[in-house]
Formats: sequence, C-alpha cells, structure tokens
Amino acid sequence: MRPFTYTKAATAADAVGAMAAAGPGARFLAGGTTLYDLIKLNVETPSAIIDINSLAELDGFDTSGSNELVFGALARMSDVAADERLMRDYPALLESLWMAASPQLRNMASLGGNLLQRTRCGYFRGGEPFACNKRKPGSGCAAREGINRGHALLGGSESCIAVYPGDWAIALSAFDAKVDVLGPTGERTIALEDLYREPGTTPQIETALDSTELILRIRVPATPLGRASTYHKIRDRESFAFALASAAVALQMDADMVRDVRIAVGGVATTPRRARRAEETLVGQPLTARTARAAGEAALHGAMPSAANRFRIELGVRTVADALMIARQRACRR
Ligand code: SF4
Repeated sequence: MRPFTYTKAATAADAVGAMAAAGPGARFLAGGTTLYDLIKLNVETPSAIIDINSLAELDGFDTSGSNELVFGALARMSDVAADERLMRDYPALLESLWMAASPQLRNMASLGGNLLQRTRCGYFRGGEPFACNKRKPGSGCAAREGINRGHALLGGSESCIAVYPGDWAIALSAFDAKVDVLGPTGERTIALEDLYREPGTTPQIETALDSTELILRIRVPATPLGRASTYHKIRDRESFAFALASAAVALQMDADMVRDVRIAVGGVATTPRRARRAEETLVGQPLTARTARAAGEAALHGAMPSAANRFRIELGVRTVADALMIARQRACRR
C-alpha cells in the first residue's frame, strides 16, 4: 500500500487551494477512469487525492445557446452523448463521445477528465523496466525501437512518439472550442488547440495547465457547420477501441462547392491536430473523391512513420477523405 491523503472539495476554489497546498504529487479525482487505472499499474502514485465530484458548479451542460454550447467539466460523457440538440446540430461532437468508450466508462467519465486522459503507449503503462521519457524523464523511449504500430506519425520527437488517445478533443478542435480553467490566481481561458503540448524534449509535460489548475468548463462557439459534421473513427475492432486514425469534419456547401470546412485528425498525432492546410485545399472547390483525397494527403503531410506504422499514413488519408464524404451526404440532406 502507498498511503495518500484524501480531500473532498466543496467548491472549485477549495479544490484549487487544496491542490496548491498538497504540492506536485497531488491529483484531482473526477470519474477516475484514467487515474484508477494508472494507480493500479503503479504509473501514478499520488501523494494526495482531491475529489471534485461534489462540485455542482462544474456539473451539467447547456446546448441551447445561440452563441455557444457550454459543457461543465464534470458532465458525464453518457449524458452529453444522449443530447438531442447535439444529435441534430453537432453530430461530430456526439459521435466522438459515443464512439469513445464502453457504456460503463461513459457513465463514469467526465468531459474535463476525458480531455486529460493519458497515452495508451504500452511502455508508459507497463512501468519498469521499460524506458519511458514521459513516465521517467531522461530514461529513453522504448517505443522508438519497440512495438510502435499504434504510435504517432505527426508531432513526435526523439524523446516521445506517443499518440494522444482521445476522441472528444479531436471533435472540439474542429469546432474551435475553448477551455475555462481556474488556478490560484483566478480564471483564464485557453483555446483547445493551445491546451496540448507536443512532446519535444519534455514529453512529461502534456498540457499548458499549471499543476494546480482545474478545468471548469468547455465552450464551443455555435456554428451552422455543425449540422453537416461527422466524427469518423477507424479501429482494430468496431467498438470501444482506440483510434488507429480518426477525423472530425464539419462542412458547409454552396451547391457542389465547399463554402467552409473544418478538419481535425486524431489517432495519428501526439496532440489533437487541426488540419488547416487540408481545409485550405477545399474551400471554393467542388467536393469530389479526388479533392477529398487531396485534403486527406494535406492533413497527413509531414508524417514521420516508425518501423511498424507506415500503413497508417494511407489509413489516415482515407479516413479524412471518407469523413468528408460522410459530411457531404449530411450537407445534401439538409
Ligand atoms: Fe514513453 Fe512516449 Fe516513448 Fe511511449 S512513446 S515509451 S510514452 S516516451
């Protein structure tokens, strides 16, 4: 047994204060679907746990606003994935939650925690004796010469090639979401795209959050592009597996021409990745199998495969192209 202290916070400010007092070994506890896993694997060994599940101010969500959709950090994935407005007007957001995990996990997992889930790299989760710069800075990266079929094609470094494993953040990235966080000096807002850090030489630092900061809510600007959107996820098995490649696409058409488009890719990069180069290839162009594929190639431009994952470049290209075609069908139906 490793002893740790347990604090049940009554307010968000209390939680942040308790975290600041407890020091860098402390962890917030929401749904626990990542943290409990990693404690059992001895990868996380918190000295203190700050339980935030009683914070009513972080609960709930509102998708009825005409300017933005607001999701409390403690809203459960399953509740949001059943929302009728999302189903009608933002299917990509809903699908990214629905495809992310089993019903049991969706019932427990919080939206804020989902954003901060850790990598599934087997060497990270396997603990000693594997070298892993993310788990133990300076120890090396066993994945570079090891089993790297599922590792990143984009955004990796000599120090780490771990894939960002989530789905929800990929869809949020396509919709220009923002995250409100609370720290000891007050509240601030971070664009979702700026929340994540590529590994560089410090893969143990995964986000722009200070260790004491708590995610309060996620805000998504309302947009007519949401209606013709999709989250397309390719996996080794059809249900409840992590993405080998995924794409979130939102589309607005003028007859056969693309008026506006958003594309983000997942499962292939170290962070959720907006594919602006791919978007630029499409705006003002007809959306055909050829232009969709060209957009897919632009999204995967610069891919750096490892020994076992080269096949996922083509898979990523096709995933983006297929997502565009699914979104086009939805645009035509409206
Ligand atoms: Fe660790 Fe990253 Fe290398 Fe995986 S890819 S072993 S997480 S350093």
